[in-house]
Amino acid sequence: MATTKDTAPPPTTTRELRGLALYREHGDEITHEGHGVYSVPGCSGGTYTVDLAVFGGTESCSCPDRAPVCKHIICATVYRATARAAARREQGERTAARARGARASLTPLAVSL
Ligand SMILES: [Zn+2]
Repeated sequence: MATTKDTAPPPTTTRELRGLALYREHGDEITHEGHGVYSVPGCSGGTYTVDLAVFGGTESCSCPDRAPVCKHIICATVYRATARAAARREQGERTAARARGARASLTPLAVSL
């Protein structure tokens, strides 16, 4: 007999949860090394280099985990998404501030006309 379990998406893997936990606990220790390349701390000391393959190809990590996507890749992906969202927000605020500045500098002109 079919149950809802048969059609449910596969459960979140332990590796994904460990990647999220790693980001939560050590996300502030990640360093950006280049385009899509990050130094990600390991749980037991050490640091691994993660390449998110932003120019195409496959993500890779220098850790011994042979899974296609290890927890460091998941951690770096969350880090990159968060950093990009923050940068976009900041850019939006700068654009809004420039627009306010432009309006303010136009006001004296408008008055003098
Ligand atoms: Zn790894």
